Amino acid sequence: MKIYRHIQDLKAHLSGVKGLVALVPTMGNLHDGHLGLVDIARRHADVVVVSIFVNPTQFGAGEDFDAYPRTLDMDAQKLAAFDGVIVFAPSVDELYPSAPNIRIDFGARAQILCAKNRPTHFGGVGLIVAKLFNIVRPDVAIFGQKDYQQLVLIRALNDELNFGIKIIAAPTHRADDGLALSSRNQYLSDHERAIAPTIYQNLIKIKQAILNGNGKNALARAKDNLTAAGFAVDYMECYTQDLTQKTQNAPCVVLVAARLGNTRLIDNIKVDVC
Ligand code: AMP
Repeated sequence: MKIYRHIQDLKAHLSGVKGLVALVPTMGNLHDGHLGLVDIARRHADVVVVSIFVNPTQFGAGEDFDAYPRTLDMDAQKLAAFDGVIVFAPSVDELYPSAPNIRIDFGARAQILCAKNRPTHFGGVGLIVAKLFNIVRPDVAIFGQKDYQQLVLIRALNDELNFGIKIIAAPTHRADDGLALSSRNQYLSDHERAIAPTIYQNLIKIKQAILNGNGKNALARAKDNLTAAGFAVDYMECYTQDLTQKTQNAPCVVLVAARLGNTRLIDNIKVDVC
């Protein structure tokens, strides 16, 4: 498993690659959700670059940038199971030799949902993804549907800045009890971990209610259920799938962010017309 630390070394390697290149951007601490993205990438390209970088510009003051798990050796071992995968794991200084002045302003769709609690988050995500797109120049890039708002914004970044990359959405990988896999799940105590699947259970109930024409009540009930289970709900909303308007009817996507203790979990479910 080749790990590149420097932009120039990665570019030198990629300049000799014949065939299609895929990019899978991650912050590392890889779990089966990430590996699912790598698997999809491998099916669309000859060489897959997995970037592993805990990006400081997408963390707000007081968030978990310092505590975020950094497990490069273990990550590399997991990726060694795949052919044709290389890792790009730069330092903060390599990607940000001086404090960057630029952030991406995504407009209205980056002022709702997660942005209400994390107002600087998507500006930093846009910056790092644009940098990675420019460094790697991939043909294909894979993003998880788990981070639905991010996925929609990255598609906009790709279209509006003419990167011309094929963006592929990967389905959300869940534990057997329905909890969406996330590197942040390991912050949960045993008690919190036992409660955490309530999020997905309520998303399923809302989906069913929307399909039955009763979305509005279901959203309110689900919020109450989560609060009663011990969550502090940041939001639980239903939007059109392009995130331009709230709706209670399919096709739509229901998105939730809720905190258990200090851990903030996000999840979503798409509701398509049957
Ligand atoms: P992260 O390392 O959390 O920044 O995630 C890197 C990529 O993996 C993003 O595109 C995420 O949406 C995706 N991802 C994270 N968790 C999951 C999951 N449980 N299922 C599918 N994709 C995921």
